[in-house]
Amino acid sequence: MAWDFQTEPEFQEQLDWATRFVRQEIWPIEAVVDELDQPALNRIYAPLQEQVKARGLWAAHLDPELGGQGFGQVKLGLLHEILGSSPYAPNAFGCQAPDSGNSEILAIAGTPEQKERWLEPLLAGDLKSAFSMTEPETSGSDPTQLRTRAVRHGDEYVIDGHKWFSSNGSIADFLIVMAVTDPDARPHQRASMFIVDSDTPGVQILRDVATMEHPYQEFGKLGGHAEILYEDVRVPAANRLGAEGEGFLIAQKRLYPGRIHHCMRWLGVARRAFDSLCERATYRQVRGGVLGEQQSVQNWIADSAAQMSAARLMTLHAAWKMDTQGASAARQEISLIKFYGAGVLHDVIDRALQAHGALGYSTDLPLEAMYRYARAARFYDGPDEVHRQSVARQILSNYEPPPDGLPSEYLPTRREAARTKFAEVLEQLTAND
Ligand SMILES: Cc1cc2nc3c(=O)[nH]c(=O)nc-3n(C[C@H](O)[C@H](O)[C@H](O)COP(=O)(O)OP(=O)(O)OC[C@H]3O[C@@H](n4cnc5c(N)ncnc54)[C@H](O)[C@@H]3O)c2cc1C
Repeated sequence: MAWDFQTEPEFQEQLDWATRFVRQEIWPIEAVVDELDQPALNRIYAPLQEQVKARGLWAAHLDPELGGQGFGQVKLGLLHEILGSSPYAPNAFGCQAPDSGNSEILAIAGTPEQKERWLEPLLAGDLKSAFSMTEPETSGSDPTQLRTRAVRHGDEYVIDGHKWFSSNGSIADFLIVMAVTDPDARPHQRASMFIVDSDTPGVQILRDVATMEHPYQEFGKLGGHAEILYEDVRVPAANRLGAEGEGFLIAQKRLYPGRIHHCMRWLGVARRAFDSLCERATYRQVRGGVLGEQQSVQNWIADSAAQMSAARLMTLHAAWKMDTQGASAARQEISLIKFYGAGVLHDVIDRALQAHGALGYSTDLPLEAMYRYARAARFYDGPDEVHRQSVARQILSNYEPPPDGLPSEYLPTRREAARTKFAEVLEQLTAND
C-alpha cells in the first residue's frame, strides 16, 4: 500500500533543524533589512550559507551530479514550506527564485561549457541571475507575442528589446533572455533563450520597478523587479540555450517546477499568518470575551485550517506526481494548486490582518507586507485565469456532448432505460396488484 503521509525520521531531523535555523537566523534579518544594503546583506548571508551547505541542504532542488541534494519534489515541498516562512530564507539555502529556476534551465539545456561558466558558480552562490521574458508592450500571459528580437550575424546574435519584471535583474551577473529568433515560425517555435552577461554593452538596467510589494523606488537589491533595455546587445552564438526555436520548450520545463516551488513556499507564509491569527484570538478582549470566543473568528480559524490543509495536500500530491510520473504528467495538478494556493495564501493573510485591526494594517507587524506579497502570487508564473482556463480545457477534453442533445442525467430518459432493464421485476409487481 503506497499511500503514506509519514516523513522518514532522518529527513524529519533535517526539517526540524531547518525550522530552528530559519526562526533563529533568518527571521531577525527581516527586522533590519531596510537598514542594509546588498553588500551588508551578503555579509550576513555568507556564514549562514556555509552552515546550510555543511548540513547538506544547499540547492536541494537539483540532482546530486549538479551539486544539489536530489531530494525530489515531495521532500523539497516539505523543506520549502519551512523556507517560505521568510522571504529571506531561500537565499540562505541556495534555492532563491529566480536562481533556482535558472539553474534548472542551465541543467536541462546548457552545454558542458555553459554549465561550467554559469551553472557551477550559480549553484555555489558566487553568481546571481535573472529571467528576462516579460515585456511591458506585450501580454506576458501569451508570450507567443514577444517582440524582443535576436538576429544572427555570423557567430553572434544581436538582441534588441524591452523587458520588465526581470526579478533580481539589477543584482544579476547574467540574464536569461527570451527573444524571437524566427518570427515566421509556428508561434511556439519562434523564440530562443540566451545567456547574457549583465555587463554586456547595450544592456541597460533602467530601474527596479516600484511595486505594491516594494512601493518605494530602490535599486540594486534582492527581490527588485528590473526594467531592462537591450540595445544592439551582441552575444556569441554559443550563449544560446538549446537549439534555435526551443525557447518555449525550455521555458515550460522551467515553469513546472518553478510554479510548484512557489506554491510550497506559500504554505509557509500562510502558516505564519495563521499562527498570528490564532495568537491574537487568545488575548484580544472585545465585547463578549476574547476574539477566539467570537464565532466569526472561529470561522476564520476553521476555514483557514481547512484551506491550508487542502492546499498542502494538493501541493504535495502534485509534487508526488512529478516525482513518480514526470513534470508534464502533473500539469493539471500544478495549475490547480497555482491558482488555488494563491487564493488560500491571500485569504489566510487577510483574516490574520483583519483580526489585528489597525495594528494589522500598520507596518509594526509583517502582515501588511505579507498581504502585498501575496497579491503578486496571482500574476507571476501565469495569472489565475490562465491556469483556470488550462485546467478547464484539460478536464473538458474528457467530455463530449450527449448524442441526443439531452443531459446524460436526464431522468425521463434514464427512467425509460431503467424500466426496460427491470421490466421483468416491474411486470411482476404490476401482476401482483
Ligand atoms: C512579482 C512579480 C515577479 C515577476 N517576475 C518575473 C521574472 O522574473 N521574469 C519575467 O519574465 N516575468 C516576471 N513577472 C511577470 C509575470 O510573469 C507577468 O506579469 C505575467 O505573466 C502576466 O503578464 P502581464 O503582466 O503582461 O499581464 P497580461 O498578460 O497583460 O494579463 C493581464 C491580465 O489579463 C488577464 N488574462 C490574461 N490572459 C487571460 C486569459 N487567457 N483569459 C482570461 N483572462 C486573462 C489576467 O487577469 C491577467 O492578470 C513577474 C511578475 C510579478 C508580479
